Amino acid sequence: MEFKEYDFARNPVVQNEVFLLQSKCAACSFSILVRSIEELVEHERLHRTQCSPSNAAA
Ligand SMILES: [Zn+2]
Repeated sequence: MEFKEYDFARNPVVQNEVFLLQSKCAACSFSILVRSIEELVEHERLHRTQCSPSNAAA
């Protein structure tokens, strides 16, 4: 299975003076909000297994 690195749009956000990382799936607009890049990568990896971009493209 092949995954692209750019299928998620990553953005740093500050919420209540807490630095967070937001990632949005380009295929289905699923949004992830976490505190570390390690978590972000893990959540992205998890989402890729669950994402159904074919639905959004239809
Ligand atoms: Zn998705």
